[in-house]
Amino acid sequence: MNTPIDLRSDTVTRPTPGMRAAMAAAVVGDDQFGEDPTVNELQARIAALVGKESALWLPSGTMANQVALRALTRPGDDVVVSRESHAVWHEKGGGGANAGVQFTEVGQGGRFTADEFVAAVKPRDHMLYPPTTLVEVENTHNRAGGIVFAQEDASRICAAARERRITSFLDGARLWNAAIASGRTLADLAAPFDVAAVALSKGLGAPAGSMLAGPRDVMSDCIRHRRMFGGAMRQVGILAAAGLYALDHHIERLADDHANAALIAKRLAACPRCALDAADVRTNIVIFTLAPGAPDAAAVVAGARAKGVLVVAFGPRTVRAVTHLDVTRDQCERAADVIVAVVSGP
Ligand SMILES: *Cc1c(COP(=O)(O)O)cnc(C)c1O
Repeated sequence: MNTPIDLRSDTVTRPTPGMRAAMAAAVVGDDQFGEDPTVNELQARIAALVGKESALWLPSGTMANQVALRALTRPGDDVVVSRESHAVWHEKGGGGANAGVQFTEVGQGGRFTADEFVAAVKPRDHMLYPPTTLVEVENTHNRAGGIVFAQEDASRICAAARERRITSFLDGARLWNAAIASGRTLADLAAPFDVAAVALSKGLGAPAGSMLAGPRDVMSDCIRHRRMFGGAMRQVGILAAAGLYALDHHIERLADDHANAALIAKRLAACPRCALDAADVRTNIVIFTLAPGAPDAAAVVAGARAKGVLVVAFGPRTVRAVTHLDVTRDQCERAADVIVAVVSGP
């Protein structure tokens, strides 16, 4: 059987030969002593790219988010996030377990406005309310189909937060995609926020690693929490080298992933049993719902798998496909045809 066309996530990529060579040649040291030159170089480059004072290596994006939550809030605090955010849906309850916070979801389709944020804020000095101390924006937004968060909204939300002494956090696991799709720099997108997270292991194609970037004192605090979470590592320059390689070789090419996702979306939109707006697909994520009469998501996932195409169910009648550097345009065309055939039935 041929290797399946794997569109389950942009995390399924394997390091390219060039990336593996960079990893093999990495100069390393003990990162807990701050002595891994490759990690230090990556942290300096990410801090500059994201436009913050300092940056910190973390083994995963979930740990980056958990460490940020722990460092930026206190147990019992309220955190305002977009509806269906990664923090609420994809971290196994980590925010409640590790930081002891509660989440208030606002907005629609991954977006929210400063007015919606302000309406959800619970003031610190209220007799009953849990104090809102953090606002989190996800860009691009995974469960909303990779949408790019409007920069004007981000600026207004963060300004309103600052007025209320509320910290702002950008979950930018796919901020690279937002940058390519919007023509803005990473630093521009992260500028309104106090602290930002970016992932090396999604579209950039590294085998592991996420980074936090922010003020030096916050990053120092995050070093402590990273250790408490068990995420402090040793000769991790082998992984950081993959990140550095990705910064040099895998950013501009994200435009190809976006074009491939648009192509899949266009083919699916032409199928009456798939509901999606192809114009909304501007990055590498395609989420569609199954119209009445179509099989459910589990049946579509199984049917596509039988024909060599891997996608995931995001709800009972919702399916997600993600493009990445390990799938070609030709494979994406074939995958779209397979999905349409499966959805259309025998
Ligand atoms: C993938 C993702 C994360 C978490 O990254 P992992 O490396 O899978 O732990 C965090 N936030 C968003 C928006 C993501 O898409």
